[in-house]
Amino acid sequence: MNIKVAKFGGTSMANKEAILKVKDIIQSDPERRFIVVSAPGKRFKGDEKITDLLLASYEEKVNSGDCHIYFAKVRDRFTEIVREFGLTIDINKYLDEVEDNINKSTSCDYAASRGEYLSALVMSEILGFEFVDSAEIIKFNKKGNFDASYTNDLVSKRLSIANGAVIPGFYGTMPDGSIKTFTRGGSDFTGSIIARGVQADVYENWTDVDGFMTADPRIVDNPHIIDFLSYEELRELSYMGASVLHPASIFPLQSTNIPINVRNTFNPSAVGTYILHDTSDKKTSLITGIAGRTGFTTFFVRKALMNNEVGFCRKILSIFEYYDISIEHMPTGIDTMSLIVPNDHLTDGLEFSIIEKIRGEVNPDVIFVYKNIALIAIVGHGMSNQTGTAARVFTALANANINIKMIDQGSSEINIIVGVNGDDLNHAIAAIYHEFF
Ligand code: ADP
Ligand code: ASP
Ligand code: MG
Repeated sequence: MNIKVAKFGGTSMANKEAILKVKDIIQSDPERRFIVVSAPGKRFKGDEKITDLLLASYEEKVNSGDCHIYFAKVRDRFTEIVREFGLTIDINKYLDEVEDNINKSTSCDYAASRGEYLSALVMSEILGFEFVDSAEIIKFNKKGNFDASYTNDLVSKRLSIANGAVIPGFYGTMPDGSIKTFTRGGSDFTGSIIARGVQADVYENWTDVDGFMTADPRIVDNPHIIDFLSYEELRELSYMGASVLHPASIFPLQSTNIPINVRNTFNPSAVGTYILHDTSDKKTSLITGIAGRTGFTTFFVRKALMNNEVGFCRKILSIFEYYDISIEHMPTGIDTMSLIVPNDHLTDGLEFSIIEKIRGEVNPDVIFVYKNIALIAIVGHGMSNQTGTAARVFTALANANINIKMIDQGSSEINIIVGVNGDDLNHAIAAIYHEFF
C-alpha cells in the first residue's frame, strides 16, 4: 500500500464545518496515514488566527504579567470545537497547562507552537489516530538550525511503528528540550519533513485554493491553476511571495522524488498542482508563474569604467559584509551596479553610513538609494530556450506606466527579477500576468 502524508492548513482546521471535510478526506483514502495539522486559522474575513492570538497572549503576559484576555479567546475556540464534536479529551486541562506555562515566562516560540499542539491532540481523537508530538521527533541543533539527518532518523523510526498518526506542524525542540518554531507558515515544512521520513509516495498539502496558481489570487482575478511545477520553480515563487507553500518546503524532499500535491480541502474533487523534482517531460508554458513582494532597498552605484577597476566589486561587497547585511540580488552593467538588500537588515539611517563608506572606498560618479522597492519574479523553465521574454516584460510594464528600477535576469535561466516601486507591486504583477496568460 502507498503512503500518503496529508498536511492541513489553518483554514482547513478553523471550525467544525472545515474539520468535517478534513475527516472525510482522510477516511476516503486509507493510504492517508500521516496527518500534519496547523493551528485553527480564520473562520471568516477579519477573524483571528490561533497562532496570532497565542503570540498576543505572550505579549500580553510580557506587558502585564498575565495573558488572560487573549488566552480566553484561544480557550473559546478550542472548547467550542471539542464541544461541537462531543469529544472526550479534557481540553481544559491542556489549556490550563498551556496558560500556566505562558504566564510562567516560557518562550515566545513555546506560546506560538501551542496552536498546532492542541489542534493535533483534538484531531487525533476525531480521526482515531495516534498523537505523535513533533517535540519528540523534530530537532534543532545548538545553534538553532534544523537538524535534518537526526530528525529524519527519529521520524522514520517513530512513525514506522504507527498505523496512523497526527503530528502538529510548525515546531520542534532544541537540544535542551525547549520548543522552537519554524518561521510563519512553517507547518508546510513539517509536512515535507514527515513525507521524507516515512518515504511517502506523495505529500498532499491541503489548503483553501484549487492549487498553486500562476499569480496570487488576491492580486489577479481567477489566475490559472498550474498543473505541474518543478521544485526549483516552487522555490523561486514561494520565496518571492507565493505564500501558498513555505519556501523551505522543498529542502527535505530535494534528494527524493516525492511529489507535493497542493489541493483544496473545500473542493477535493479538483486534482490540484503536482510539484515534482523534474517537470521536463510535462508540457509547460513559457512562464510558469509570477510572484512578488515588497520590503527591499536598492543601492545604485555608477562609475565610468568600473569594469576595468580590479577589486571594485569586492570593495563594495566588503562594506555590506562589515555591516552583516546579506545581498539579495546584484545586477551589474558595464558601468553600473545595483545592490538589493532586505529592508529589515537596515537599521534606521544605516544606509547613510553605507553610502559614505562606498564613496570613500570607490569614489563613484553617482550613488543613490531607493527605499520601498518591490521585487517581482517571473519564473519558468520554458524561458531558458526562448528569447524575448524580458522584452515582453518591459513592454507590459511600460504600457502600464510602471517605472522599472532594476532588472536581473538570473543566472539560473528560470527567472527574471524586476524591481519596481513598492506601491506599484500589484499593478505590475497584473500587467505582467495579462501579457503572458
Ligand atoms: P494554509 O493555511 O492552508 O497553509 P495559506 O494561507 O498559507 O494556507 O496559503 C494559501 C493562500 O495562499 C491562498 O488562500 C492564497 O490567497 C495565497 N496565495 C498567494 N499566492 C498564491 C498562488 N500563487 N497560488 C495560490 N494561492 C496563493
Ligand atoms: N500556524 C503557523 C502560522 O500561522 C504555522 C502554519 O500555519 O503553517 O504561521
Ligand atoms: Mg500556509
